[in-house]
Amino acid sequence: MHHFSYVGQKLQCEGVELSAIAALHGTPTYVYSAQTIADNYRRLAASLSGLDLRICYAMKANSTLAIVRHFANLGAAFDLVSGGELQRVIAAGGRAQDSVFAGVGKTDAEIRRGLEASVYSFHVESEPELERINHIAGQLGRIAPIAIRINPDVDAQTHAKITTGKSENKFGIPLKFAAEAYAAAAKFPHLRIRGVQMHIGSQLTQVGPFVEAVKKVLPFVLELKRLYGIEYFSVGGGIGIVYQDALASGSAGWWDAKPAGERPLTPEIYGSALKPLLAPLGLRILLEPGRFLVGNAGVLVSRVEYVKRGQGKTFLILDAAMNDLVRPAMYEAYHELVPVVRDTARPALKADIVGPVCESGDCFAKDRVMQEVGEGELVAFMSAGAYGYTMASRYNTRAMPAEVLVSGNRFELVNARESFDSMVAGEKIPGFLQR
Ligand SMILES: *Cc1c(COP(=O)(O)O)cnc(C)c1O
Repeated sequence: MHHFSYVGQKLQCEGVELSAIAALHGTPTYVYSAQTIADNYRRLAASLSGLDLRICYAMKANSTLAIVRHFANLGAAFDLVSGGELQRVIAAGGRAQDSVFAGVGKTDAEIRRGLEASVYSFHVESEPELERINHIAGQLGRIAPIAIRINPDVDAQTHAKITTGKSENKFGIPLKFAAEAYAAAAKFPHLRIRGVQMHIGSQLTQVGPFVEAVKKVLPFVLELKRLYGIEYFSVGGGIGIVYQDALASGSAGWWDAKPAGERPLTPEIYGSALKPLLAPLGLRILLEPGRFLVGNAGVLVSRVEYVKRGQGKTFLILDAAMNDLVRPAMYEAYHELVPVVRDTARPALKADIVGPVCESGDCFAKDRVMQEVGEGELVAFMSAGAYGYTMASRYNTRAMPAEVLVSGNRFELVNARESFDSMVAGEKIPGFLQR
């Protein structure tokens, strides 16, 4: 369930009108609902209650300090993929000691930083990485806790750019070589085998691939418990969200807008399918959800700059662009676009929704049908809380957008729109170009 809905004509986030936020902080601006995040977190945790469960929020989905703090307050740990994300956890008051450090290309400096912060475990993706972590742990006089990411070779049936559990992906170690990798890890004096990890992809909308992957690795997990006394099994993240009709489904409650028999995936379906498989292991279970926790908790508010009527086509030109929200350009992703002020008396408009960036790819949607909106009016992209701001860039020297967090009737700017001065702060004109 999310907390974006029309109250009268006006679209609100919890108790706050989006138009009030835009009036104060301008556009484009990401707006997040604290209550939606809390609901998602608690609902997922409840679906696996009874297990020794630790939710490590995959913060690459949204790593803004206020969001990280909110998760820390809810009791979450973190799944982090860079030294920068580790610094964010620490800066936001999150528990690095309960968090896991993932990623295929950890540098020496990142490994060192992870060890110094006493992360719960490193999720290792190759044998050279085992060697590297062992070496650095030795230098620091520490023992590095590790788990190896195994690649179960299942098809997550999602977009090619976000599937990770097939053998042709760069991620993890294929199941058939995993025993060898663990045997190698066991020989390194500065490593401690703490667990095992997998993650098969993102935006999964069916429970089947999760079940298939868990079933496939279960015998191996038990073998690891027997051989090395591992204490946890991380089943990764990847639970998908609703992008189509996101606004309407949210008011009824997430996937719940569909009749019970047609719901492809809910936390309850996920939990009840996985719990019977995971409970008998007697291990701590880690989840690494990103998108599920924050995706439907954020919108991107934008203003219509121009309505351009071309030959047989209308273009809605927004002040948001692919640099602010890259998912449509990068993954052909769908985001529902809704007017911030609803007016059912207006006719429908069919338009290509585009941004001002000088690229044909700067297109959010083709031939989208929505309520007619005019120059200067506000629109909102739904389900933009995950992989929105974190994937934004400054392409075309466009400032990073602002971010606002709403809680009940309160809202606060949690990340100011970037200024030109901060954009160019690291730049200089070299002496040999001075005149
Ligand atoms: C990206 C990632 C996640 C989170 O994926 P979501 O689809 O956002 O849940 C979890 N674990 C690992 C290892 C990842 O790379």
